[in-house]
Amino acid sequence: MNNTTSLLPHLPVAHLLTQGASGLSLLGSKCRQCGEVYFPAAHNCTACCGSDLAACDIGSQGRLWSWTVQAFMPKSPYNGGEVEEAFQPYGVGYVQMPSGVKVESRLTTADPAELAIGMPMVLRLVRYGQRADGKPLHTFAFAPTTEGAL
Ligand SMILES: [Zn+2]
Repeated sequence: MNNTTSLLPHLPVAHLLTQGASGLSLLGSKCRQCGEVYFPAAHNCTACCGSDLAACDIGSQGRLWSWTVQAFMPKSPYNGGEVEEAFQPYGVGYVQMPSGVKVESRLTTADPAELAIGMPMVLRLVRYGQRADGKPLHTFAFAPTTEGAL
């Protein structure tokens, strides 16, 4: 189910992604007893205390629930590889997926004029830094979209 490592060799979040029917998707889990959805995937359900959860494609589109701008370089375990003087602020937000689960994510823009609570967002892969050996690092991020509004 999870073959994103073949897409990008340096994707530390590959375990959080899957190839859905219409492209890249987030991989969560769903409780078989009560239907609660989790991201990242959980092994136990906090809603019904069950432990029968299955991998679940939670989709690639949602709505921006809240956001802010990360204006200073995060502390470890952030691994962007840049020095503080070169750090570029980035948007961070919660995106509510169709199942209701809220996904904390980097956003593709840090411009407040481009972000509004409730706007449709779509999953992307972005380069966010580089490893000590110079190889690029990628992660998922959500971008504002007007296509396929939920
Ligand atoms: Zn449950």
